[in-house]
Formats: sequence, C-alpha cells, structure tokens
Amino acid sequence: MHSAQATSSAQATSAIVPTYARANIAFERGEGCWLVSTTGERYLDFGAGIAVTSVGHAHPHLVETLVSQGSKLWHVSNLYQNPEGERFARRLVDATFADLVFFANSGAEANEAAIKMARRRQSIGGHAERYRVLTFEGAFHGRTLAMIAAGGQAKYLDGFGPKVDGFDQIPITDLAAVEAAIGPETAAILIEPIQGEGGVRVIPPSFLRGLREICDRRELLLIFDEVQTGVGRTGRFYAYEHCGIHPDILTSAKGIGAGFPMSACLATADAARGLTVGVHGTTFGGNPLAMAIGNATLDVILAPGFIEHVAKLGLYLRQRLAELKDRHGSVIEELRGEGLMVGLKVKVPPASFAEACLGQKFLVIPAGDNVVRLLPPLVVTEEELAEGVRRLDAACAAVEERLLVAIN
Ligand SMILES: *Cc1c(COP(=O)(O)O)cnc(C)c1O
Repeated sequence: MHSAQATSSAQATSAIVPTYARANIAFERGEGCWLVSTTGERYLDFGAGIAVTSVGHAHPHLVETLVSQGSKLWHVSNLYQNPEGERFARRLVDATFADLVFFANSGAEANEAAIKMARRRQSIGGHAERYRVLTFEGAFHGRTLAMIAAGGQAKYLDGFGPKVDGFDQIPITDLAAVEAAIGPETAAILIEPIQGEGGVRVIPPSFLRGLREICDRRELLLIFDEVQTGVGRTGRFYAYEHCGIHPDILTSAKGIGAGFPMSACLATADAARGLTVGVHGTTFGGNPLAMAIGNATLDVILAPGFIEHVAKLGLYLRQRLAELKDRHGSVIEELRGEGLMVGLKVKVPPASFAEACLGQKFLVIPAGDNVVRLLPPLVVTEEELAEGVRRLDAACAAVEERLLVAIN
C-alpha cells in the first residue's frame, strides 16, 4: 500500500484528502451574509456553509461570547456538572416537544444517538428483537458507516464493505408501503421532514401525520432528522411544527451552533428511557465552549419575532423567485421549500448552475434531483434577498447564453 510517486504528486497540489471538488476560491473573513475572498472580492453568501451559519458571519453577540467563554473555559469532559449545557438543554426543551437532550458534535453523531436511543427503548420495553429502522428514498443522514446505510445511496455505500444491517428503505409518500415494510424487528421510522441533500423535497404534512399514527399504533419510535431544517430555517423553530404532530426523537445540528461544530438529539422522557448511566457517551459533546455558543445562537433565534420574521422573508423570497422563474423558464423548472430553505430545480446540471452563480459572486449549494439550494443566513435582509435574486437573474442569463451558443 505504498507508492512514492502517488504521494509526491498529491503533495504538489494539496495535503488534504481529496474527498471534495473545491471551487478555486478561499475566504478570509465574513460579515452577516457577506464573505470576502483572499483576493479582496465580496461574495453574497446564500449557502451559509450548508445551512450552518444561521446568524451570519461574525455576529457580534457570538463573537463576544466566543471571546469571553474562550478566555474562561473550553472543555472539562462530561464527568462534571455542566451549567451552561443545562441552560441550553432547558431552553431547547422549553421551546419544543422534548423533555431531554443529548449533546454531540455533528449531524451524523446526533443521528447515531437517535438510533441507539430508539433501539434501547425497544429493548428495555421488552422488544430486544426490534432493531430495524425504516428510512426513505432520497434521504441523507450523514457519512458514518451506519448513516450511509440509513441514507441508502449507492454512491455513498460503494466500496465500504457490507452495508451496516438494520435499515430498510422505502419510497416516500406511500403510507401503504410503510405499513407493508414494518416487520417484527422494526423499531423506528427515520425521516427528514424536508429532504435537504435529496433536493429540498418537502414531505407532505399528511404523510408525516400518517407516520405518527402508524408509529403510535405499532409502538414504533418516530425520529425526525432536522439537522438541516432545524433552528428557524423553515420559518418555525423546528419543521415538525408545520405538520401538527411531533416526533419522539429529533436530531439537530447545522444551524444550532452557527458555525461551531455541535449537535443535539432531543427526545421525550419516554423515548430516552433506555439511555441510562454508561449506555452512551461522547468526549467532546456539550463542552462549555460549544454550549455557550449554542446559548448565544438561541439568544438571536429565539428573540421575540425573529422566527416569524424568517417566515415573512421566506414568502418575500418565494415571490421574487416566482417572477424569476417566469422570466427564465428555460433554466428554472420548479421552486420548492419552506421559509429560508429554498430549492430551485434547474434544467442544467446543478453544479454548473452553481458555477454560473459563483461568476456573479453569489454562493448557492447544489443538491440531488437537479436542485440548487438557497440557504441564506437567517439574519438576511429583504434588500439582500432582492440582491440575491438580481444575481440569480444574471446567472440565469449567463446560462441561457451558453445554451444558445450550444444550439447554434
Ligand atoms: C448535513 C446533514 C446530516 C449530516 O450532518 P454532519 O454534521 O455532516 O454529520 C445529517 N442529516 C441531514 C438531514 C443533513 O442535512
């Protein structure tokens, strides 16, 4: 397993494992919805680091918190009391259906905690045989070995040995298929209320309510992966609020730390019953620095009127995009999404559309199903949304020009 030549040629370009096709641009600083490149150019950021920088770049309250907590205490492990974490967990519980919170470091880890929690709950409830989890086509739940099995996508599973057992994938929005797929070993159903990586596919509320009814009747746990949809992104604190029911377990990451790597698994007391002392753990999860930043993020997001304002901004953006779609029907096929989680289904490869946007100094994120995502920081203004649409307009025109050249 050694090739001197391969090693030296890789070093000539980058010492980072090349798992990403990176755009040829680097950023030096940011402010709100704007990023400044190392060459001094300003970019309008509607990617937010994939829905992560929820309160924008270098938000003064978060910077202040980072500096003050950073000069006091970063990490002590989970062997001691955690006042900042207690406060953060209490605020999450007070704002949601949940009674308890487990803190982790990434979306995939929060999902692992959710699956372990559900299996354990079945096991201590007298159903140790129930360990399988139903998931849905187009899903994305992260890149750990178990979560690529949960997502079920061949492109993420190929070459990594046998798929982790315990996940059964079914088509979306077919409640009969869900019923049929439930067996004596089924423990839980895992779903994103709006598929993010899959292409901003909004799951109909009636389907989510149907899953709730099935889970109640068959004594299964309902898990919502709100890693991307959570923390105000869709114009509600969590997206489950749109459908009038709540899950038993919910995972949150991306926007929750506003750029600081952290995640949370929220649950009812009953769902979490199996996670007792020593059963699950993490070294970094919930450390004082992360918790202080989480609290500062909530100070912004849970301020009175903030989330309602996100919902209004979402409507405004949708109106502007509907006009854009009318003007550029040859490029834009469909609008999708909720709040400030918006997808444009485009008629060209989404990566090439994102490149055209980059040409307008405008950052967007490609997704599955030929969709480009707009995920601006939630502190975006109406003027910045209008500016984003202007840049999209120019990007569409550039794409149309290319299409015309290709035809002629
Ligand atoms: C991004 C994402 C994940 C994975 O999060 P990581 O922090 O990359 O592990 C899981 N689920 C959903 C819905 C996501 O969007």
